[in-house]
Amino acid sequence: MHPRKLIGITGGIGSGKTIVCKIFETLGIPVFNADQASKKIVATDPSLKNEIIALLGEKAYENGVYNNKYVAQKVFSSPELLLKLNQLIHPKVRVAAQNWLEKQDKKPYYLYEAALMEAAGQGNNIDKIIVVTAPIALRIARIKERDGRTEVEIEAIINKQKTDAERKKISDFEVVNDSESALIPQVLKIHKAIIAT
Ligand code: ATP
Repeated sequence: MHPRKLIGITGGIGSGKTIVCKIFETLGIPVFNADQASKKIVATDPSLKNEIIALLGEKAYENGVYNNKYVAQKVFSSPELLLKLNQLIHPKVRVAAQNWLEKQDKKPYYLYEAALMEAAGQGNNIDKIIVVTAPIALRIARIKERDGRTEVEIEAIINKQKTDAERKKISDFEVVNDSESALIPQVLKIHKAIIAT
């Protein structure tokens, strides 16, 4: 089979990845949401469950149900544990993405949406990367409105994530989702550019 073109789309919390992906979907481009897939996998994959328990302790699952709050607490203060947890989950998400990709109808390209993205070509089958950026104050305001989290909580998450500058370094295209730039023309331009390559 001819290799399918997989385009990563990333951005920090509240940048607008989901809203931008919806626009791509209206153009007929299928989207794989890695964050959703990862939630499903930690909830259902028995070997992963054992590995997570070995890493973080029995409390990582409560009556068989993934204990998100406990896991978040454990990894929040330990970058090393967070890295190890991601190293357990990511290969499984990649396999799920590959299976998903093979099941899709033929399209000019497919999107892989994830808050955490490695550079293209790091054994991840990703050809190009799109980053969605927005000013931090606006991202905080959006998440406050969407999730009802406090400013302090949101800032703590933002500080743990990569910066827009770091994400831009690994990206080929940028969608600016501030309060002034219209999204649809930016998406159309990128869509055409990807199809042309
Ligand atoms: P997360 O990483 O938390 O999933 P995200 O990058 O997917 O965030 P979205 O969920 O797309 O971000 O956007 C965050 C919130 O801001 C949503 O409620 C969305 O509707 C709103 N939003 C994003 N962009 C815009 C925009 N250009 N105009 C109005 N509202 C927006």
